Amino acid sequence: MLVDNYNRSFPYLRLSITEVCNFSCTYCLPNGYQKDGEKSFLRQDEILRLVNAFVELGVWKIRITGGEPTVRKDFTDIAKMIGDMTEVSKLAFTTNGYKLKENAQKWRDAGLNAINISIDSFNAKKFHDITGHNRMQEVREGIEKAIEVGFEDVKINVVLLKGVNDDELNAYLDYVKDTPVSVRYIELMQTGDNLTYFNKFHLSADHIKDQLIDKGWVENIRSNGAGPAVNFTHADYAGSIGLIAPYSKDFCTGCNRLRVTSTGDLRLCLFGNVGIPLRHMLQSDDQKDDLKAAISKQLDYKASSHFLALGDTGIMTNLSSTGG
Ligand code: SAM
Ligand code: SF4
Repeated sequence: MLVDNYNRSFPYLRLSITEVCNFSCTYCLPNGYQKDGEKSFLRQDEILRLVNAFVELGVWKIRITGGEPTVRKDFTDIAKMIGDMTEVSKLAFTTNGYKLKENAQKWRDAGLNAINISIDSFNAKKFHDITGHNRMQEVREGIEKAIEVGFEDVKINVVLLKGVNDDELNAYLDYVKDTPVSVRYIELMQTGDNLTYFNKFHLSADHIKDQLIDKGWVENIRSNGAGPAVNFTHADYAGSIGLIAPYSKDFCTGCNRLRVTSTGDLRLCLFGNVGIPLRHMLQSDDQKDDLKAAISKQLDYKASSHFLALGDTGIMTNLSSTGG
């Protein structure tokens, strides 16, 4: 198992497979995805070698992300390739829900068993304003389909935006009353690209926490290795509410994940200042030992926390580039 100098272990890899996205969320890609030269994203054979190395280092949970991972034509093949590895017991992906309804069964059959779907508002107009797409209903139907085809773990991501969707808690609570999903409020994060936006729309997740406590929701004790979300449950509700608050004091103590970008750079932290290129070690099977040694060695350099409070967002320009 990969362990760092602060005794944190890393069973979880977030793998971005593309920077391309078809949405233009105001906090992420407000002008849509802009092609940056002739960037080539990891090929399937490279992904297979990478995942094999991480699995041999103890990783058992993998999340495929992006950009929008499902815009890749070979998304299902990639999922199947990883899903066939028996060591990977949790294979998740994060999606904007585009075409989820039509493809949920196929993706479940490929071996994906957990899904995070982003839906920042249940109000169709607001959804359109945030994402640039009039698809709220379609995404909601996709969520229903994901539950129906047997995804074991369905989560809904909501980026909390001051004055935009901070008044919608009741709508999400109504939804989780009988639906067994976890809605996760994510505090808006400052990135290299979005300082003005961040200053205007950032709101502490305490805004949601206080309302939940008032309504009788209970904060669950965080289990070992559970990751940085704080979860709330209520006896009368089938689903749960999670808060992801990167600006909170102990956020990094629960860190359990490493990231690899779509061009094969290892990122020790979402907000880190270095990307460690691995792609040159993904070109043939006999490089596996060197690759594993390089990954293990890098853990010595993982910092105890990010420096967001100092305004240091690292080298990430926006989350589509690193993989959220
Ligand atoms: N395209 C997919 C999606 O939107 O779900 C996957 C990639 S997206 C970068 C992953 C998650 O990061 C989404 O839930 C998105 O809302 C969130 N995200 C993007 N930019 C963010 C920011 N600046 N602060 C907080 N969350 C952000
Ligand atoms: Fe695309 Fe996801 Fe970024 Fe929205 S948050 S622009 S869907 S990558």
